[in-house]
Amino acid sequence: MNKAVELSENLYQIDLNEAPKLKVFTQRQLNKIPQFMKLPEDARKGVEVAALVFPFRVNEYVINELIDWDDWQNCSIFRLTFPQKEMLLDEDFAELEKAYNAEDKALIKELVDRIREGLNPHPAGQMELNVPTVNGEPVEGIQHKYRETVLFFPTQGQTCHSYCTFCFRWAQFVGDKDLKFASKEVDELVGYLKEHPEVTDVLFTGGDPMVMKTKALKAYLEAMLDPELDHIKTIRIGTKALTFWPYRFVSDDDSAELIETLEKVVRSGKHLAIMAHYNHWKELTTDIAKEAIRRIRATGAEIRSQGPLLRGINDNAEDWATMWKLQVSLGIIPYYMFVERDTGARHYFEVPLVEAWTIYREAQQKVSGVCRTARGPSMSASPGKVEVQGVAEVNGEKIFTLRFIQGRNPDWVQRPFFAKYDEKAGWLDHLKPAFGEEKFFFEE
Ligand SMILES: *Cc1c(COP(=O)(O)O)cnc(C)c1O
Repeated sequence: MNKAVELSENLYQIDLNEAPKLKVFTQRQLNKIPQFMKLPEDARKGVEVAALVFPFRVNEYVINELIDWDDWQNCSIFRLTFPQKEMLLDEDFAELEKAYNAEDKALIKELVDRIREGLNPHPAGQMELNVPTVNGEPVEGIQHKYRETVLFFPTQGQTCHSYCTFCFRWAQFVGDKDLKFASKEVDELVGYLKEHPEVTDVLFTGGDPMVMKTKALKAYLEAMLDPELDHIKTIRIGTKALTFWPYRFVSDDDSAELIETLEKVVRSGKHLAIMAHYNHWKELTTDIAKEAIRRIRATGAEIRSQGPLLRGINDNAEDWATMWKLQVSLGIIPYYMFVERDTGARHYFEVPLVEAWTIYREAQQKVSGVCRTARGPSMSASPGKVEVQGVAEVNGEKIFTLRFIQGRNPDWVQRPFFAKYDEKAGWLDHLKPAFGEEKFFFEE
């Protein structure tokens, strides 16, 4: 038996024979969720209609272990997974509800398509600006925006165990493809990396690569151990499985093989980082979630945490401080606090930059230095990742000070710059240069 498995049974005493099956519910199966059916009718209708537009998929673990159904109106995990009526504009909701009540399928589709189109489904030029080409042909499944780091989207990893209401990436990635295609993908990825010695990091992302069977994930990870890829020093895997399906690392049929694969990557001498997406400390409180974290760490992999600040889910300093402290106590390294992107139901989740910065700062003040490793609030915008460093007053002018954490042009990294203070601004494109400048330096 694997060492990690032995250790675990002593600590949390999880009975693996009791592990639930991964059972998921979609919009059409809402009426199969007993807890949901106990909600008032108008609340249910709101979710049913909103879930026609926004991604909805939730599994039994989230329903039974994470959502507080006695206080569903205030439950962050409920809002994280169940789309809300208010995520749609009033007039869109009214029109869609009417079509839904009339069961007019053609009209529902037309309205859903139109509403989605209005929600900026492909933010930050992801489709046009970041996709690399080889011999003039775009390389499928790769984004290469920052010199050192290549993002890779394995085909079978483009879905999630549950969907987050604020996520809109699913729009461009849903759909299954077979393993044959995947092996072609591995070759393309490796070929691309061999030609790019400046790349040190590969980040497997999605969707969620941890929805893949171990066999598929293993093929990608082992390909990174090719001696000709010695320049790849860090492998990262972005995932929300530690929240939505921690059993992935403990009791799935191929969990033991998954843990062994992670160990193998670590033994190869590369740095392996699980980039765990977290929004709320509640996600870290179940025994199975803690056990999954422990098993990953026992492989020698690091877990780093990142996630956006969201209205109604985690828009207060107390929750962030609690989350960072809990993460650190479990051995997770806080990495990023993001500003909610300019896509999807942004009007619903948006927190103005000045408020985001205040929450960040107050949360940092509540924790010790080892919890202060999360950078932010950070906007993943078209020119790069831009951090709001603070609000200051210089010669009587109130300004935001900002810096690039990452830049499309490496020369921009760590360059401070200044924008006019704007209480309402929620994204980089809302900001105007301070001190009477015409443009920001990166716009020249
Ligand atoms: C955030 C991000 C990365 C990783 O950036 P790090 O600062 O190295 O964590 C890479 N590519 C894209 C497109 C990103 O948004």
